[in-house]
Amino acid sequence: MCEKHRSEDVQKARPRVVMSRRTLLRGSFTTLGLAAGGVLFSGNPAQALDIYNPFSGYQITGTWQDHLDSGSLGGIDYGMGVGTALPAAGAGVVTNIPDNGTGGHTVTITHSDGYRTQYMHLSQFLLANGASVGKGGIVGRSGGAVGAPGSGSSTGPHVHWHLITPGGTRVNPLNYLGGGGGLPKTSTEQDGVPGPVMWQRTQNWLRIQSGYTGPIDGVPGTNTYAALQLNMRNWGYTGPLDGVPGTNTWAAVQRLSAAHGYTGPIDGVMGPNSWRGFSRFINQDQWD
Ligand SMILES: [Zn+2]
Repeated sequence: MCEKHRSEDVQKARPRVVMSRRTLLRGSFTTLGLAAGGVLFSGNPAQALDIYNPFSGYQITGTWQDHLDSGSLGGIDYGMGVGTALPAAGAGVVTNIPDNGTGGHTVTITHSDGYRTQYMHLSQFLLANGASVGKGGIVGRSGGAVGAPGSGSSTGPHVHWHLITPGGTRVNPLNYLGGGGGLPKTSTEQDGVPGPVMWQRTQNWLRIQSGYTGPIDGVPGTNTYAALQLNMRNWGYTGPLDGVPGTNTWAAVQRLSAAHGYTGPIDGVMGPNSWRGFSRFINQDQWD
């Protein structure tokens, strides 16, 4: 997939201080903070900016440097099918910008510390202007197909992501991640109620272990369940890989849960205790 972005430079202001990539890589975070707009961080900006990488499960099809090389102010492209749900990198307030020049349909999430996350080339906005969103909440759907509404200059399905400092400088979000930069932990471990974050982590686990290639969107479908069934062969499942989980699939999941503290019956009926055990497994750092 070719992802040449000549100019997603919808931001008019150029950085006041231009630093080479090498300087950026070498520079301390404090230096970065000063360069970005006179804001002096007390330490690592990850502590000041609570974001994660919602796209860690996808392949990077355009690096930050690729963007600079093609004349863009910067960004990271992640390849994904059109219509993939886009989770918010951090909590904030949403602004939708339709047909934002070469960026196409653009979502801006303004975080409480003045940093802004921007996603470009969307096919669909899902929240209203001014809506609040929590970390991991879905703000829209990806696009990027050539010539499609909202694609802007995109040459193939993907999402473009960058961060803007309070001073207006576009920066690489991967340098600002907290908590290891992966998926957030699921609260299912506490409340026993499966939700999108638990399923995102499950999809990422299945991507790593069982060849799942679908989106990490927290919405399990046939492909997610088929990969789950394949993995559950390790836990005694012998049925078909049809993506339609039944009692035998869930009984295998309960055996996995039992290895992580679940003490209830292996009856193929998932309840809060089964999900808690499963989530103790799925919350391990290796599936972030
Ligand atoms: Zn891009």
